[in-house]
Amino acid sequence: TDEARIVLDNLGDRTASLFHPTLRLGVAGLSRAGKTVFITSLVHNLLHGGRLPLFTAQSGGRIARSFLEEQPDAAIPRFQYEDHIRTILEERQWPQSTRAISELRLTIEYESASGWSRMFSAGKLSLDIVDYPGEWLLDLPLLDKDFATFSTEAIARAQLPARAAMAGEYLALLAETDLSAPSDEATASRLAAAFTRYLRECRADTTALSTLPPGRFLMPGDLEGSPALTFAPLPVDRSVTYPKGSIAALFARRYAAYKSVVVKPFFREHFARLDRQILLIDVMQAINAGPEAIRDLETALTDILVCFRPGKTSWLSSFMTRRIDRILIAATKADHLHRESHPRLESIVRRLVDDAIARAKFSGATTEVLALASIRATHEANVTQDGQRLPMIVGTPMAGETIDGQTFDGSSETAIFPGDLPANPARLFETGGPWNNAALDPVTFVRFKPPRLEQTAEGFTLSLPHIRLDRALQYLIGDKLA
Ligand code: GDP
Repeated sequence: TDEARIVLDNLGDRTASLFHPTLRLGVAGLSRAGKTVFITSLVHNLLHGGRLPLFTAQSGGRIARSFLEEQPDAAIPRFQYEDHIRTILEERQWPQSTRAISELRLTIEYESASGWSRMFSAGKLSLDIVDYPGEWLLDLPLLDKDFATFSTEAIARAQLPARAAMAGEYLALLAETDLSAPSDEATASRLAAAFTRYLRECRADTTALSTLPPGRFLMPGDLEGSPALTFAPLPVDRSVTYPKGSIAALFARRYAAYKSVVVKPFFREHFARLDRQILLIDVMQAINAGPEAIRDLETALTDILVCFRPGKTSWLSSFMTRRIDRILIAATKADHLHRESHPRLESIVRRLVDDAIARAKFSGATTEVLALASIRATHEANVTQDGQRLPMIVGTPMAGETIDGQTFDGSSETAIFPGDLPANPARLFETGGPWNNAALDPVTFVRFKPPRLEQTAEGFTLSLPHIRLDRALQYLIGDKLA
């Protein structure tokens, strides 16, 4: 049974950990939140002794050596660290984003801070970093829902004003589908494809919606085109028994298969084995898209955080052993704002997850919120304009980015005033406020090129610059290196 397997996995992990201390760190976030960049910078900074003042094991000189090792799970793709760091440092481009689960083992040899432990041996900790799409967590709530419930909710969402235009093709197809008629694969594929296209459009930069289950429709991993992903919500009537071979019966069966062969194995084999979790959020993208996107992000985060709350979902709670004891919720890309705005960015994240955290209580897990930049692509400057001091950020916009009608070619630095975030996060949720008016768009958001590595006067090359990556590390693994 699922339960027995999880218990065995956990037992196996713990026994292995006795001989070889290991920490499994999950890195999740919706697509383009910054998972790949976060892991790449974290590894680079640990391998190259980066400047991490608040990560005390490193700043206190207690880390003897960090190195990459073969990962323990042979069946999970390896996180392509070498490719990603090359893209960043040599091409000054951003790496290929996360598309499926991957893993990397980084082993740290350290000296314990307490003389007592130091007497016995030097410490060694293997950090198994597990990178996976946050979209997959949005599938957990489906486990408790049958096809009719899932369909009713999904169709109601598709009919919301913010989504109806994007869902037009799918809703029109639904209207002309006879649920009881014998189905064929062409009809099935057409419906599934229209539904998937609608979810993808909701994810586009200008709309930036987040609550878009089923998760694999957006992030199929290696399941693209498989029958388990070839279904769509249908307006089925619970009191009707649909004939065998009808589209309604077919999709109900595929939905059940999706849950048993896709969703459950992921939670059982990967999620249930994590010790710590960081959840990355791209708040600026949602702010730029407007209040609908902000509200939808809040819903998605609530759904995601439910996964970390044993007791809520019957299936998961049956075996969750309360393994995860720390969850860090981090707003990424903070280098797009002047540091004066960071406290406001953090309070926006707090507002987004407050309800979920308060309701969850997380039975034993502590949570923390912070704003970080895994790789800092900008620096700050203060410019005085008409006697007023403007806190600006300076960076090299990527080729093709435009600000105020000016298009950049990726070769020159520019200073921009990124704008202010509201002091009261509630304003971001208000429809029709200045935050929803393109002419008054408060935050200027362009993509900057990754930075060049700086050299010290002595000719040493520094590792990737960041904002608060050290605080994140201290919270996530610092206590294990104490
Ligand atoms: P993933 O889908 O979660 O793996 O997202 P990525 O890590 O690929 O990040 C998506 C994009 O966000 C990148 O291509 C960068 O343009 C941008 N990005 C991510 N992290 C940072 C950061 O720390 N600073 C800046 N300036 N941009 C970032």
